[in-house]
Amino acid sequence: MKTPELITEPAAWQARCAAARDGGARIALVPTMGYLHAGHLSLLREARRRADVAGGPGLAVASIFVNPTQFGPTEDLSRYPRDLDGDLRKCGEAGIDWVLAPSDPRSMFAPGHETWVDVSGVSQGLCGASRPGHFRGVATVVTKLFNLTRPHVALFGEKDFQQLAVIRAMVRDLAFGLEVLGMPIVREPDGLALSSRNAYLSADERARAVALSRSVREAQEATARGERDAAALRARARARLEAAPARVDYVEIVHPETLRPVDVAAPGSVMLVAAYVGATRLIDNGRLP
Ligand code: AMP
Repeated sequence: MKTPELITEPAAWQARCAAARDGGARIALVPTMGYLHAGHLSLLREARRRADVAGGPGLAVASIFVNPTQFGPTEDLSRYPRDLDGDLRKCGEAGIDWVLAPSDPRSMFAPGHETWVDVSGVSQGLCGASRPGHFRGVATVVTKLFNLTRPHVALFGEKDFQQLAVIRAMVRDLAFGLEVLGMPIVREPDGLALSSRNAYLSADERARAVALSRSVREAQEATARGERDAAALRARARARLEAAPARVDYVEIVHPETLRPVDVAAPGSVMLVAAYVGATRLIDNGRLP
């Protein structure tokens, strides 16, 4: 296993990536907030493969940055879990060449920063409704990471389904000229989607948290049996979450690209759920068959 090179200055990162790109390297980027788990690892390993597809050794890179602009004032920015040493080791295991981990958030968002990227349609509703400003922060930091890195391909998880839709819309509308690759959700054996925030859960909450993936799986099973009424599917999922107990933020069934709610679940419609287990807000989703 080789240790990836750690770069903490965005300007130095930009110069290194530009030189690599000018030298013909194909660049694959995985943006993360760190505290890496097996879900991140699947993105990192795929980045290694995607960087190398053209035959030559490409450049597989990751960023680790807990982006303050995507957290609301009452959210968990200050206690978000961090483990840079562990993350670097995992990046090394996945074959990542370089890691950008800005040592000072002001090197990404200097005082006086006043430019924001706002994706309108798909940012609204769902997490956009309960986390005002969240997707503006995500779109802005991802834009900045794209400009610093100029990757050929960037990888994101379907776990954050709305985030992926926001980034696809942004890349399309602003002609970033790169490929966005969505990767399947990696889960614990009992179905819980891996998340850095699972670290917040007590043993009791961890057991209750399985209700999110169960609620989605039950909707998938009901749809496979012929249930198409979105209201009925949503009610059943909501009941499953409330029984956990978990406090429901939203349960929606949407079109996979527009993210607009549907009344009738069609093949490819996506159920998205968000719920609080104790104080921890978790999300999950799955395509309906
Ligand atoms: P985060 O560090 O939470 O910002 O996540 C970084 C990237 O990893 C995002 O593209 C996430 O969608 C993705 N990701 C997080 N959890 C999972 C998971 N369980 N399976 C697949 N991808 C994930």
